[in-house]
Amino acid sequence: MIHLKSEEEIELIRQSSLLVGKTLAEVARIIDPGITTEALDRRAEEFIRDNGGKPGFKGYNGFPSTLCISINEVVVHGFPSKREVKEGDIVSVDCGVLMNGFHGDSAFTFVIGEVDASVQALVNATRESLTMGIEQAVAGNRIGDIGYAIQQYVEMRGYSVVRDLVGHGLGRNLHESPDVPNYGRRGVGHRLQSGLVLAIEPMINLGGKAVVQERDGWTIRTTDRKASAHFEHDVVVRQGKAEVLSTFEFIDEVLKSRN
Ligand code: MG
Ligand code: MG
Repeated sequence: MIHLKSEEEIELIRQSSLLVGKTLAEVARIIDPGITTEALDRRAEEFIRDNGGKPGFKGYNGFPSTLCISINEVVVHGFPSKREVKEGDIVSVDCGVLMNGFHGDSAFTFVIGEVDASVQALVNATRESLTMGIEQAVAGNRIGDIGYAIQQYVEMRGYSVVRDLVGHGLGRNLHESPDVPNYGRRGVGHRLQSGLVLAIEPMINLGGKAVVQERDGWTIRTTDRKASAHFEHDVVVRQGKAEVLSTFEFIDEVLKSRN
């Protein structure tokens, strides 16, 4: 069942989403060559708890950590380890917060130092495709309009859209109906109504669209081992224009000050 949210519920999701944005900004402050992904995870968990939230992913279907940290060819669901971040990596950090009974869920791909120009372009296009998808999250449109906009934007540039993983509804549960694929056809799928809260999260590959799961039971990587990028926002469907509940503002500020 699809649950449309009240303004009170939307406000609580906004607070959780905002804390996710601030947590990702804490990650932005310390992400550098030489830091382990475990250290990033510890900082994120500490920051979330200090601010009155709980990590939304930890324990979800047995997931061990606060952050999903997915480097280079890893698409999503990488988990923190002794692996050190290094110059030339792209690092997707996906973070969830549960607070006041509601989830926030947002992801950002960090570029570490100088990366290959083709990889930098992939990251930029993936972020832009998220904006394209959000523009379609308006009342009266269909789920397929969101995926179509994302798919068109990235395929025109020679990238491919992961099919096996999709965005989702969001609220009291981390994953609610409906699914939000990053591919699709215009005018097809569930009709969007005001008050529907969605996590839109393009996962875009430099090479082919195929992915495989590693034997650890979590990590999803590209089959061809080419890079993959990931950005995610929580949005509420409104008349005329979607409202974005999560934010990259704090991350962008930190990254700008570090340049
Ligand atoms: Mg996420
Ligand atoms: Mg999500």
